[in-house]
Amino acid sequence: MSVLTKALIADYVTVSAIESKDIVNKAIKIHDLSPIAAAALGRALTMAALMGNELKNASDYLTVTIDGKGPLGKITVCADGEGHVKGDIANHVAETVVKADGHLDVGGAVGKDGFITVIRDVGLKQPYVGTSQLISGEIASDFAYYYATSEQQPCGVTLGVGLDRKYCRSAGGVFVQVMPGCPEEVLSRLETVMYAMDEMSYQFDGSTARQVILRFFGEFDPVFLQDRQVVYKCNCNKRKINALVKSLGKSEADAIISEMGQIEVCCHFCGRKYVYTQQDADKLFADR
Ligand SMILES: [Zn+2]
Repeated sequence: MSVLTKALIADYVTVSAIESKDIVNKAIKIHDLSPIAAAALGRALTMAALMGNELKNASDYLTVTIDGKGPLGKITVCADGEGHVKGDIANHVAETVVKADGHLDVGGAVGKDGFITVIRDVGLKQPYVGTSQLISGEIASDFAYYYATSEQQPCGVTLGVGLDRKYCRSAGGVFVQVMPGCPEEVLSRLETVMYAMDEMSYQFDGSTARQVILRFFGEFDPVFLQDRQVVYKCNCNKRKINALVKSLGKSEADAIISEMGQIEVCCHFCGRKYVYTQQDADKLFADR
């Protein structure tokens, strides 16, 4: 279980932090990720959790894609307003490259020849869609740039995933959002604090989100607003997969069954398998 904590500082700034080790380990387990894939998807899932917490209603839904044309391929992460996240990455086994400074080369593996796209479905006729160019592929700075350019909202983002061989040892992220009218003096103090925030995975090693907020923003006397649990949980179900199979059309479905013996649909996000025999398909297509 991961806990996200949100606080208000200096009247004009909210700081949200999450300790996300369990979310990252669930993703590693489902997708059998190589270390570089775990680091990239782990960072994106951590950010999805932080963004999902900003959704107003439980049924609101957010989907983010990061497609930098690097060896990892497209990353997709989703969050709802109830503290659930899920995600997938095109290449689960991309080769892990380490930079000269000892860090994993996440930027090189994600690539920066592409875009980050955020789709927010808040129950209106049309979802809200925002997009921006990737600037580094390192994910945290790409999200900060997205907020600055596409949402005209200055913010700071730091994300970290620390791995111990195949599994995540510690992970977390901090999302700082500045409201309009924030005094210059606060901004410059914030900048100094944010500059000191590196090696985020170590910061969350054995520390809660609340402790990390106090460690960095203690001088601002944070007012804690919220603690919430966030878990990796998929929202796929039989009804959605039925609709998907129906969209194939009866003749295509029958053709697959006669060739393969059955239709097998595997959910990208959780690995759950849905199987349709000829009998299941007949019943499905007979249903109006
Ligand atoms: Zn699923």
